[in-house]
Amino acid sequence: MHHGALKKISNHRKYYSISLALKKFLSQSKISSISVRTEYVSLGEATDRILAKGILCPRDIPPFWRSTVDGFAILSSDTKSATRAHHVMLDVVGKISAGKKSPKRISSGKAIAIATGAKIPKGADSVIMIEDVIIEDKGKKIFIQHRTDKGSNISPKGNDLRKGQILLKEGTWLTAADIGLIASVGIPRINVYKKIQVAVLSTGSELAEPGSSLGNASIFDSNRFMLASIVRKQGGEPIDLGICKDEKSLIHARIMHALKFDVILISGGSSVGEKDYVPSLINEIGKPGIIVSGVAMKPGSPTSLGIVNGKPVIVLPGYPVSAFVALYTFGLPLFYKILNTNGPPVAKQIAKLASDVQLHKGMTTFIRVRILRRHGSFLAEPVSSTGASLLSTLAYSDGIVVAKYNSRGAQGDDKLQKGQDVEVILLRDVYRQGAQ
Ligand code: AMP
Ligand code: MG
Repeated sequence: MHHGALKKISNHRKYYSISLALKKFLSQSKISSISVRTEYVSLGEATDRILAKGILCPRDIPPFWRSTVDGFAILSSDTKSATRAHHVMLDVVGKISAGKKSPKRISSGKAIAIATGAKIPKGADSVIMIEDVIIEDKGKKIFIQHRTDKGSNISPKGNDLRKGQILLKEGTWLTAADIGLIASVGIPRINVYKKIQVAVLSTGSELAEPGSSLGNASIFDSNRFMLASIVRKQGGEPIDLGICKDEKSLIHARIMHALKFDVILISGGSSVGEKDYVPSLINEIGKPGIIVSGVAMKPGSPTSLGIVNGKPVIVLPGYPVSAFVALYTFGLPLFYKILNTNGPPVAKQIAKLASDVQLHKGMTTFIRVRILRRHGSFLAEPVSSTGASLLSTLAYSDGIVVAKYNSRGAQGDDKLQKGQDVEVILLRDVYRQGAQ
């Protein structure tokens, strides 16, 4: 008999910790060998795409010395003796607007009117702001009453970015500023990873399509839409495989169809109930089949992870909150691994817990919280620690606190204490929605 720490004892599930489950799953050679294709997209389509190739800066930015203000390009040495009492007078010999070059050169005693962003004329070494001079003779003369340092109000060539420097690394999840940066160096199209195709299937004979009439023992399928929405935000293209009744042959057929795609998500039927066929079907279809069956997390413990015919499959619990948490916990790291990225930026907020929270023994507990603002600091108020079936508890929360159970550590580790600082992974922007 095998005496591994993870053996199954009769009907009791032996749960893997989240980290071990992830490690077992993501280290599968089938996952490491998935090679995602790349494509070129224009910058208009680049939001939330992932760079497949690092970008080197093709030129100095700014590409020329330019003025950062509206004013007059001058020689700083001309202003050496300028004071409030003794103004220095310069002749204005021309004008440069943005996008134009000056045919004239600055020499001592001369100034050229220059606009913000315009190229500094030859000979000039500084710009004096329009507000700092007295303009006379219909703009033909200026009087300067302060000394101006060399380089004032000039952005030198290459000041922002240097030709040849790494602009953005491979794997960068492109956000607005990145896309602006790429445009600023003149690159119109970029190489990004293709979105991975993620099949999303709901199983359950009780499930009805939103919009259809609801039988008296049915519920609407919410998971499929919620999971597809997460997939879309996280680098995938969801493929809708619909609802499947709890019938072995039907589920078998759907899984066979799902094998065409990169990743398979199946919700419902993940547990050990009589009609929970999904894990055993996966084992029948292909090796290695289910690798992880049950994870020490609440909600989400009846999650299974496997590889079937070379395709990663995540079997998510039917309860919507469980399915959500399980997809975040296992699906996102899987997508990011396939896509060679760390994922999109994640907003987190440190907050003080508003009440004690008992943790599930031996499990990682996911606590849905609302964020309240009290006297300039943030409070995390647990929404409901139970009710994985109640999607409203998730939809009406602002974020999630992930709490590890630790029986050996300091006191209180089986419990989070009111008033302690916790890190909340935000599901929405708590500033904009005006948390009070
Ligand atoms: P299961 O994991 O199949 O045992 O399902 C657990 C619970 O989640 C049951 O109450 C199901 O009715 C519910 N459930 C399963 N799939 C879905 C779904 N796609 N949308 C909403 N609820 C579901
Ligand atoms: Mg079911």
